[in-house]
Amino acid sequence: MIVGYPFSAVVGHDDLKLALLLNAVSPAIGGVLVRGEKGTAKSTVVRSLAALLPEVAVVAGCRFSCDPAAPDPSCPDGPHESGLSPQTRPARLVELPVGASEDRVAGSLDLERALTEGVKAFEPGLLAAAHRGVLYVDEVNLLHDHLVDLLLDAAAMGVAHVEREGVSVRHAARFLLVGTMNPEEGELRPQLLDRFGLAVEVRASRDPAERAEVVRRRLAFDADPAGYTGAYAGGERDLALRIAAARDRLPAVTLPDDALRGITAVCAAFDVEGMRADLVMARTAVALAAWEGRDEVTPGDVRTAARLALPHRRRRDPFDDPGHGLDEERLEQALSEALSPDDDSGDDAPDDAPDDGPDDDGPGGGGASGGEPADAPPGEGGASAGGRRPESPGAPYRTRLLAPEAVGRGGPAGRRGRTTGESGRAVGARTPDGRLRRLDLPATLAAAAPHQRGRGRTGSGLVLRREDLREALREGRESNLVLFCVDASGSMAARTRMRAVKGAVLSLLLDAYQRRDKVGLVTFRGEEATVALPPTSSVELASGRLARLATGGRTPLAAGLRRAERVLAAERLRDPRRRPLLVVVTDGRHTSGPDPVVTARRLAGVASVVVDCEHGPVRLGLAGRLAAALGGTAIRLEELAADHLAAVVRDVRKVA
Ligand SMILES: [Zn+2]
Repeated sequence: MIVGYPFSAVVGHDDLKLALLLNAVSPAIGGVLVRGEKGTAKSTVVRSLAALLPEVAVVAGCRFSCDPAAPDPSCPDGPHESGLSPQTRPARLVELPVGASEDRVAGSLDLERALTEGVKAFEPGLLAAAHRGVLYVDEVNLLHDHLVDLLLDAAAMGVAHVEREGVSVRHAARFLLVGTMNPEEGELRPQLLDRFGLAVEVRASRDPAERAEVVRRRLAFDADPAGYTGAYAGGERDLALRIAAARDRLPAVTLPDDALRGITAVCAAFDVEGMRADLVMARTAVALAAWEGRDEVTPGDVRTAARLALPHRRRRDPFDDPGHGLDEERLEQALSEALSPDDDSGDDAPDDAPDDGPDDDGPGGGGASGGEPADAPPGEGGASAGGRRPESPGAPYRTRLLAPEAVGRGGPAGRRGRTTGESGRAVGARTPDGRLRRLDLPATLAAAAPHQRGRGRTGSGLVLRREDLREALREGRESNLVLFCVDASGSMAARTRMRAVKGAVLSLLLDAYQRRDKVGLVTFRGEEATVALPPTSSVELASGRLARLATGGRTPLAAGLRRAERVLAAERLRDPRRRPLLVVVTDGRHTSGPDPVVTARRLAGVASVVVDCEHGPVRLGLAGRLAAALGGTAIRLEELAADHLAAVVRDVRKVA
């Protein structure tokens, strides 16, 4: 048996531990999103939670973990007779791997058996397995958006729902959802971010003594896991009992009017969208009171709840970094205004807060201790290496649609390349080449009709066989991986030119964001190429990296292409359904390394566009040559804007 690291042995991470415990007390809070760099033991802490949760009683043999006291009326394994002897088992922590299919997550329905045999054959998915336990997604930011959506819907409704062609199955799926992510690898889209109840930033401690203690404990655990865990058994038991007691107390906790006013005032002050923040804060504050063994919410509970529930909900534009904490001063001001007793007699109670010994409330503080100013670029050979400041990008504009020419086959839904798949307009019918997912009824009837007599049909029902089934062949739009390979060398670096280039890439990034693409950024200059941004589903980071991109030096174009080739190969493994589009932004010159044309030919299987940045009276046409080697097309930088298209068409006509 694998022995997990004990929760009570975790050093520091107070906010994370508290957020998990409060959700364990009150799952209605809506889960926890944990953001932090690699190596901060996020996963260890999350996984250690399961051991603290009370055991659950289940109906023996039910694959959907029905509670014997109140079985799910829609349970696919039901109905369950009452009075069966219940079993108890530990609460589960189910891990959802990033590459999981929708069937694996939601469960799969055998539509063919439903139609031809009339039975609902349903194979439970991970949502069923996680019912009444914890569902943990590591690297949740790398999960397909539609899976995240599906998860958050189930978490919010407490129900999992699979429907195919009018055959539907639903079952209870109440779980505590925990996601962890490293923001360096890409942000969650803002609309998904705020659907997690609480969000916590974790970072490794900056205190040497605390770090030493972390190491000491980890070594002791690895040397003798069972013995080490035994030493913490008492602490674990106490926490488990405290969770159980807090759950019992929860319904009796009251939320006084002034505390509620504090909550709504804070939410209004931080200009959060909708009412979800207010509800989450209220539930969190109530859970906190229960956890502390109190029957009433205090202002302190509200303050803590704000710290956990608000940072990821502040209104922001898509290119903001959501990683900052709360503005503590604004929080205190909103709270003190709402909680001051003479509330109605005018709002000029000016000095409620001068005695605010800056942060009495401990470790969470706004990161002032961290030493790095929030918006300075971390290292990454920025301005200093190139000897001058990076140019800021020119203003973004609407770009032409760049897309793979060939029609794809079943890529993830989006708004770029054309693809056949499950959505879009019907362009025909076919026999399914795997499991039937969407029935084309007229085509199926047409296929079955000629055989009715031969199959000995007597009554009014149609005799349907597996081989009759047809699905609609549809053509829609897919989302792609758009990998930018950007020349940042001296040949491009005339200052105004680089501004235009950055403006173009920024425009393409915005376009990719609206089309739900994944984007990645490879740059090359001097002697080497670097992956400035690994492929990510969010564009926020890319624009930041782009603005900070330093320029100058020689032009290792082949190295840039090689690096792009490696990134594409890795992505093919990670996300095989998504077709790539390589966008090379260069004037086509190379002054360092081997001939790029040789490398370019190896990329000929990938759809590509070269944005030609050459300018001036004498043109060499190197970008065109590169595009030919890539098997792609070239487009001049000036032609990239959507409203230039008409002009281009005119030019083409003139030539023809
Ligand atoms: Zn059941």
